[in-house]
Formats: sequence, structure tokens, C-alpha cells
Amino acid sequence: MTDRITISAFGHHHEQVVFCHDEDSGLKAIIAIYSTALGPALGGTRFYPYASEQAALADVLNLSQGMAYKAALAGLDLGGGKAVIIGDPKKDKTEALLRAYGRFVQSLAGRYYTACDVGTFSPDMDIIARECDFVTGRTVEHGGAGDSSILTAFGVYQGMRAAAKHHWGDASLGGRTVGIVGVGKVGKHLVGYLAEEGANLVVTDVDAGAIAALQAAYPQVKVVTDTDALVREQLDVYAPCALGGALSDNVVDVLSAQIVCGSANNQLAHEGIEKRLEERGIVYAPDYCVNAGGLIQVADELEGFSFERAKSRAVGIYNTTFDVLERAKSEGVPPSIAADRMAEQRMREVGRLRSMWLPTL
Ligand code: NAD
Repeated sequence: MTDRITISAFGHHHEQVVFCHDEDSGLKAIIAIYSTALGPALGGTRFYPYASEQAALADVLNLSQGMAYKAALAGLDLGGGKAVIIGDPKKDKTEALLRAYGRFVQSLAGRYYTACDVGTFSPDMDIIARECDFVTGRTVEHGGAGDSSILTAFGVYQGMRAAAKHHWGDASLGGRTVGIVGVGKVGKHLVGYLAEEGANLVVTDVDAGAIAALQAAYPQVKVVTDTDALVREQLDVYAPCALGGALSDNVVDVLSAQIVCGSANNQLAHEGIEKRLEERGIVYAPDYCVNAGGLIQVADELEGFSFERAKSRAVGIYNTTFDVLERAKSEGVPPSIAADRMAEQRMREVGRLRSMWLPTL
């Protein structure tokens, strides 16, 4: 998983890549299924104005592979897939386009389930579902799980406690100082869990509105101007909850935090940075391990959504994170490699069982 995909659809073991085109509605989409070893592939649909079709392909190949690893490590009976729609969601998103897309998803007959991602929201899923049976992330009124960021934040909090237990021998975050970049949907819920436990909080966000809303609810939170200032604060834990690539050389070199645990996807800015984190004695809780709460939440819709059941599954992120960090220590590898190994092992060992023939009941 550590190597990044360039542009070949065949280069990285994907099972199926489908190009979807409907000229009249303007739909141009790519659905990538990395693996169905553990079950149907589930992953969101990203609606984004990619600079080129190759950029869209590279993104969907990377993202679908990441979903397979995330589902496997989270213990779900799901494979990994993802889709991208090429276009500007603010201008190009129409009912006809979304429904055309839904018909392509339907044509895969359940090998791929879609969900929300950047540029798509629960009401869009309701529209797609008018043409398609394989949709999660729907609105609560339509039996969906609603906002997945609640359990994403809860899972990150569990992962942070596990990392604290691994590193300090005590899971408690009370009295620890946690720096959070990005107090959007996930970051603000994370602040809530940490504030309740008595952690000291330092935050930053480029959106003044997000900061103002947070300060109104949690006046005790310290706000700094930007990420540069935040990573230079005296921190125990650093939680990137904004964009990918948060762990760059510049950040890792100045970070005082001993634990990194946040929701942002693809936090390692480049290959090799995980070694630098180790050299500096910083424990990195792998992003796709700790941010699986949202996936757990939408996956629960396949059984008829129960928030309590999904939340109790998300509690499991504590044990998974702890196991990843212990395995990394015992095998002498960075946690990101240990997480990849554990996900691959489950895909291999449990996925293999499907080769046992069973009569169709
Ligand atoms: P969001 O858009 O609601 O919040 C992101 C916040 O980061 C925004 O408030 C934004 O203003 C801020 N931000 C952006 N660039 C910044 C910068 N350079 N410096 C400081 N702040 C900046 O998104 P979200 O749903 O909270 O997701 C946060 C991260 O977690 C994303 O990387 C997302 O991919 C990942 N994630 C989210 C979920 C989920 O369920 N929402 C699940 C898994 C992973």
C-alpha cells in the first residue's frame, strides 16, 4: 500500500475499472474496484474538477486501494472501491447526471456500493438511489446513517487513547495537550470528546467561521494563526484533521508532539517520512486505521442502520490501533507498514475461504 499509483489501470492489482460516459447529462465517471476478497467493494463517490482524466484515474486507483485496506483492517466484510465523477459539483451536478451515474453503479450488480465523498452529500445519494440499489450514506429520512463524521471523530479519539496507552502506558488524555489542524466536521467533534476528558486543546483552521463556532462552544480552546504556528506549540498529540500530506519533512522536524493521530487521509507526505517519524521517537497512528469510523457507520446501513451498533463497532478502533502499534514494535517496522501487513493478512486469510465451494442455498 505504501507505493503510490501512477496512471496504469492494470498496474496495481485492481479487479475492475469501469469508465462511465453519458454524453447528454455530461457524466464522465470512473469506478475502480480494488478488491472484493472480503465482500462487495464500498467507497464514496468524489465529484471533483480534475485537471485531466489521468489525474482522475490516478486518484480513483489510489483511493479504491486505500478503501480495501481500511475495510480489511476495520474487520468489515467489505472490499474496497471508489468512484470519481469528473466535473465541478457546483456547476455540473444535475439530477440527470446523478441518475445516469446511478445506472452505471447498478450495472455492477452489487460488486460496488457507493457513498458520499468530497463534493457529494447524502441528498445526492438519495437521487442516485432512485436508479440503483447499492447506495449508502443516504439521508436519515431514507434510512441512511446521515453525517459520518460523528463516528469518524469517535474512532480517531479511540485511536488516540490506544496510542497514549501504547506510548505512555495510560490511555487517558486528560491534562495532555492536543493540537488539531482543521475543526470542520470531524475536528469539531474530536474537540468535544477531548474537552470532555479534560485535554488542553490548541486549534487552527483557515475558515474563520469554523473557529468562531468552536470558540462559542468551547471558550477554553486556544486558537493559533496557522498550521506552522500550531506544530511549533508544545504538544503531546498532533491531530491533522484537514488535508492530506500533513506530515512533511518541515512539520516532522519541528514537532514536539510524541503522538500523531488525526482523521486526514494520506497524512504521510512522501515515502520515507514514516522512518523520520520513528527516528524522532514520534508514534504515528496510521490514518486509515483511526479514521475508519465513518466507513463503519455507512457500512452499518447494509444491515439496516443502528447508530448504537455502529458506535460499538467503532470502539474496536482502540484495540486495532493498539495491535498495530504493538506489532510495529515487535516486528521493528513503522506502524504504517504494520497496518498494511495486518490488512493484507486478513484479505488473504479470510478472502481465501471463498475458494471453498458451497452449494447455492
Ligand atoms: P471538513 O471539510 O468538514 O473539515 C476540514 C476543515 O479543515 C475545514 O474547516 C477547513 O476550513 C479546514 N482546513 C482546510 N485546509 C486547511 C489548512 N491548510 N489549515 C487549517 N485548516 C484547514 O472535512 P471533514 O469531513 O472534517 O474531514 C477532515 C479530514 O478527515 C479530511 O482529510 C477527510 O478526508 C478525512 N476523513 C473524513 C471522514 C468523514 O467522515 N468526514 C472520514 C474519513 C476521513
